[in-house]
Amino acid sequence: MAKKETDKKTADALRDTLFFSTKNQWGERDADKRDDVFRFVEGYKAALDAGKTERLYVEFSISRLKEAGFKPLASFDSLKAGDKVYQTVRGRGIVAARIGSDDPRTGFNLIGAHVDSPRLDLKPQPVYEAQELVLFKTHYYGGIKKYQWAALPLAIKGVVYKKDGSKVTIDIGDKPDDPAFCVTDLLPHLAKDQMQKKATDVISGEQLNVLVGGLPFDEQNQDIKDRFKLGLLSLLNHEYGITERDFVTAEIEVVPAANARDVGFDRSFIGAYGQDDRVCAYTALEALIDSQDLSRTALVILYDKEETGSQGNTGASSALYLHVQHEIMKRMLGEDPSVSDMHANHANSIVISSDVTAALDPNFADVSDQLNAAKAGHGIAVAKYVGSRGKGGTSDASAELFTAVTRCFDQAGVAWQSGELGKVDQGGGGTVAVFQAETGMEVIDCGVPVLSMHSCFEVTSKVDVYETYRAYRAFLETMGTVSDQSLFV
Ligand code: MN
Ligand code: MN
Repeated sequence: MAKKETDKKTADALRDTLFFSTKNQWGERDADKRDDVFRFVEGYKAALDAGKTERLYVEFSISRLKEAGFKPLASFDSLKAGDKVYQTVRGRGIVAARIGSDDPRTGFNLIGAHVDSPRLDLKPQPVYEAQELVLFKTHYYGGIKKYQWAALPLAIKGVVYKKDGSKVTIDIGDKPDDPAFCVTDLLPHLAKDQMQKKATDVISGEQLNVLVGGLPFDEQNQDIKDRFKLGLLSLLNHEYGITERDFVTAEIEVVPAANARDVGFDRSFIGAYGQDDRVCAYTALEALIDSQDLSRTALVILYDKEETGSQGNTGASSALYLHVQHEIMKRMLGEDPSVSDMHANHANSIVISSDVTAALDPNFADVSDQLNAAKAGHGIAVAKYVGSRGKGGTSDASAELFTAVTRCFDQAGVAWQSGELGKVDQGGGGTVAVFQAETGMEVIDCGVPVLSMHSCFEVTSKVDVYETYRAYRAFLETMGTVSDQSLFV
């Protein structure tokens, strides 16, 4: 007798059981749930517009935390369950915490994102005059495609300290009446040689000079030496009270001038500068603000300097962030934690290294392994590892941790997908995970998939932004220790 053919229904059911696949989350939502998504991202867009530099984003975060009843850590002698605190790290990083009811030695739940983004920094002596134009010389910060920064409206933001020590804030280019700034590009008519260059050299680093002025000091007197540079510096002195010397010690960043926009006829995406990694910073902090009834203490850390390798005392490798963790523990315990207490806290803490990953792009699908790439619209992307050339420079989460975190997401009904940054040997990248892992804390990377990452107009799916917020909230509220792995308590 011929073997009975499996009917299609049975095979489909079996496939559903045995295969792993993720779904586009727009299809998984009815209209009122969609409204939740659209409402949530309005706050995010406002955060992007307010916080285009790490300093501005930290300022924005402080105001958000204050609104939500968080107070500076230094104002507490002791901390008890329900207390809400924050501590800034030299104005460019911040730690915010909600105290839980558990003993701190059983570990914290932490989410760490970064709030610096690729940009152009002014050189110490930026001002020069050439062909009767005044320009600022820059040194780019982080991984950029330099040609993307030409012929684009730019804004200038930063802090300048005058000779007497007083502080001047510069923030110009974003308000409707502000002037913008730009790096000029070569007209195609004369670009025969330029168009033959490699993309890395189409605009060179030393050509990233920003046009900032063109009025001479005295229109009537052409004999004045350096009259265009003098014109600009006298204007700046009048407006800000600064001199050329003050630029040497200043921290001034040049960023794209446009605000965050909805993208698409259906407004399903957000396009904006600086979504890497403020999309994770925003969702993490909102998750902390909204989290309730915590047993484990929840921390959100926003780091600086990730885009240049996390070095420097505001980067994730800085001990200052651990010192804040120590100070929180001290106030919870009512005494200085012993070295063993701190070791126990680190060994039992679980960290989400909260950073963006590449979304599968139909224009460049060949750089991704389509089976393992994150898809825009499919929820938060969890990455077991990042790194490059044989997982170099990665933390690589354990099976135990990956399982525990995704079970936490499943229980909360959060849409998650696995995401790998590009094909093997295609390139790669790092995150703060390796620095957090140095203390022994359990660390896993997860965050929002992004199109056009590191460009002046990065794109995210609104539904992914919202799912990431839900994932982080579930993590902060319900993540417990990884099974059977409690150490030193
Ligand atoms: Mn990042
Ligand atoms: Mn980045």
